[in-house]
Parts: sequence; structure tokens; C-alpha cells
Amino acid sequence: MSEGVKVKIGLEIHVQITSLKTKLFCSCPSDYRGKPPNTNVCPVCLGLPGALPVVNKQAIHEALKVALALNSQVSKLLVFTRKHYFYPDLPKNYQISQYDGVGSLPIAKGGYVKIESNSSIKVVRIRRINIEEDPGRIIYPTGSMATSPYTLIDYNRSGVALLEIVTEPDIESPREARMFIDKLTSILEHLGVTNPDLEGAIRVDANVSIEGAERVEIKNIGSPKEVEKALLYEIARQAAIIKSGGRVSRETRHWDKTRGITISSRAKELEEDYRYFPDPDLPPIPITEELIEKVRKSLPELPDDRISRFMKEYKLSRYLAHVIVIRSKALADAFENIVRKCNNADIIASILVNEFLRWVDELDLTVEEGLRRLTADRMCKLVKYLKEKKLSSKLLKDYIKRIISENIDPDDLITKGYTSIMDLDYLSKVVEEVFKENPKAVEDAKRNPKAINYLVGQVMKKTKGRADPQITYELITRRLRENGSQHPK
Ligand SMILES: [Zn+2]
Repeated sequence: MSEGVKVKIGLEIHVQITSLKTKLFCSCPSDYRGKPPNTNVCPVCLGLPGALPVVNKQAIHEALKVALALNSQVSKLLVFTRKHYFYPDLPKNYQISQYDGVGSLPIAKGGYVKIESNSSIKVVRIRRINIEEDPGRIIYPTGSMATSPYTLIDYNRSGVALLEIVTEPDIESPREARMFIDKLTSILEHLGVTNPDLEGAIRVDANVSIEGAERVEIKNIGSPKEVEKALLYEIARQAAIIKSGGRVSRETRHWDKTRGITISSRAKELEEDYRYFPDPDLPPIPITEELIEKVRKSLPELPDDRISRFMKEYKLSRYLAHVIVIRSKALADAFENIVRKCNNADIIASILVNEFLRWVDELDLTVEEGLRRLTADRMCKLVKYLKEKKLSSKLLKDYIKRIISENIDPDDLITKGYTSIMDLDYLSKVVEEVFKENPKAVEDAKRNPKAINYLVGQVMKKTKGRADPQITYELITRRLRENGSQHPK
């Protein structure tokens, strides 16, 4: 599509601090989801005249955790800034945010996140971290801005505490953008700051420019999963404009996920348009060294350390450790819990990564939903049956599929006789039948060892996949030798 195009991507990630009980500047509950519209509000978060904001101290604590985990430099003073713009989701006509300049500063600057790109480590630099308030929610009744006849506004979300994490334009492909978001999400999850499974908890804006042309901002890409798709589309769109001799214009675009395209929404505001100034309602608060040290000491184990520990403690490959930790904290926690119950870390890691995640993705479940079906108890039963050779590795795949899709206990399958067949007499008889029914394949297999797999497949078919593959293979090769194979094993 646009191979070899030089791409620069910077991300702005908005993270709701879902660990908080209340909003950033008032005592309305921060959990606004599922409530009737405009019921989770008060004069402060509705921006009524005369209402005064009071900072939620715990929000500062949570922001510091993130700043330290991203190796950022924390500011000595917490200053809030008014960012002015008119939009229906913002009743005050300004958002309380932070800014680098005009006597304001963000809570933290600098820092980095490491990602693994093409098996080498890449550093993506962080520019700054802001604390700010979430605006209300605009609802388009038909689901799209372009087709809705009218717009609804719900202020339940207005004033929820957000962190805005801005990167330098160090990201060079949509895939890297996705990896960065996955890694950042994993860090936030391990810190306990946000629950990424909540709808809208993590929202991404992406700035993208190619070949040094103007940059375009894609606003409010719904979920991390959509980021890669939106960027792929936008890069192809810009590449086509440049190729046809046109010029990419600097603008803001929206990602329309139902149609899979970006749409121009407005010319980008300039920084000056926002008329930033420090919020006079919120006096600056000193951030002391003592507080920073206290937060630093409270930091939990973070993903990079956890991956290293998994490799050392459980002898996992880097690949398996990385997938388990970064995919979801719940998966990493489940892995450790299962290993505590029944050891065999290598088998468990491989089942989780190669079989469990495959079916979770195929059936469009969350990892948590999948883990409620493939419980630690069921997992340990599978390991036991595998060790006792009641299950072959082939049958195991079937078990995982059925446990996750039908929420069935492995014991139910075992008691129904759905086990590996290792009975030599029985399998010899099946092999004999297969030889009689497939004389041509038998002749082929005598000359070409690869053709043996076809005969193994026929035995599997007759036994509904239950024949032990290794024993079947042995029986077939032995029989071929007896029949004068030219390729004795
Ligand atoms: Zn409120």
C-alpha cells in the first residue's frame, strides 16, 4: 500500500483515572457508566456560575504514580490552566487542564516507554503528562456525526479525572503505535490507575505526517484496537495525495469506525486560540520531595520487571513471558495462580498463549470472560490428564476450544470417554482397516515418508481425533516396514 513511506506518529492518550471514587473537582461519583443521562452532576461539573472547584488529592497521587512509572520528571508545583474553546460538551467554555507555558506547567515532563519492535528494543519518548477534566459526552443518535439529525449531550462524564499522556513523534508505523498503547496500558493496569476494559477509559488522538508534510490529527479514536486501523487508513490517504501531486492540509479528522475512514472535521486550532492562563480558582499546590518518595516506594512491580521475573522464575521464553504480561494483567495474575496450584509453568504458559488466547479472540471474549471458563481448577485438571496421557496434545486443543466456547468442565468430557486412545490392539486394528481401504496411499507411503501423515490422518478420522498420534505413527511405520517399505524408519 504505502511501503517505504517515512512516517512520523505522535500520540495523545487520554486515560480516565478509574481508581478514583469521585470526579476531579467535585464530589460526584467518578463511576458515571450506566446512569440515566445528566443525573451524575452538580453545579461544579455543570460549570454553573459561582461554583468553585476543589482538587481531588488522590488524583494527584495517581498521576504521580504514572509519572514515576514512565520515568518522567515531576514538577515542583501543580498548576491548573484554563483551556478555552466552545463546544457543547464543555459547559464552562473552558476545560481545566494543564499547559507548558504562560506561567503554567504540566505535572510531569519527559520520560519514556520501551517497546519491542522487530525483536529489538525501541524507546518512545514522553513529552508531558497533564491532569485534566473529561468533558461531557456527545451522543449521535444514529451513531455517526454525519448522518444524525440532532445531537444529545450527557454531562455525567463531565469532570471525571483524566491523564493526558503525550509522546514525541517517535513512532514510525501503525504497528508500533499499537505496541506502544499495549505497553502503556499494561503499565497503567499494573499501577491500578485505570481499568482499560471499561468503555472509553482509554482514548487516543494520533498526529501523523508522512514525508515531512503537514501533520494531521485524528481525534478520539474509540479504542486502542482501532488506532492501528485508523493510522493505516490515514497514511494511505496522505500517500495518495502526495503521489498525485497534491498537498496534505493541516487539519483535524475524525475516525469513522463503521465506515473505516477518517473524515475532515475542522481546521486545526492554533495554540494561541485557546487563550491559556492559570486558573485563578485553583491556587498552585507544591509537590514535595517527601510526597514523590512516598509514591515511589508504593509503586508495584511493573511489566518490564514482571517479564524478566517470568523468564527467570518460570523459565519462560521471552516471547511467552511478554505476551502473557502485556496482553492483560489478569492473564499474568491467572498464570501465576495456576502455576502455584499445579506447577508445570511451561505447559501452562504455552496453553494460555497458543490455545486460550486464540479462542478468546476468535469468540470475541475478554480475557476475564475467558478465564471465568478456563479456571485455574480446570487448567490443573488438563495438566494432570496430559501428564497421565489421557489427553494427547491434539485432543488438548479440542478441550480448550470446548471449555471456552461451551463453558464445560474437562471432567465431563473425560467421563464421556472423550480421551486419547492408546490401546495398541485397538489401534492396530484401525491401522489394518486404513491399510486395506487405502492401498494406493500405502504404496505412496512406502516410497515417500511424507505420505505417512495421510495414513495417520485417516486413523484420526476413524477415531474422531482420539488416537494417540505418536503411537499411531509408530504402528503405521512398523506395518510399512513389514510390508517392505524402502524407507525403514
Ligand atoms: Zn459534580
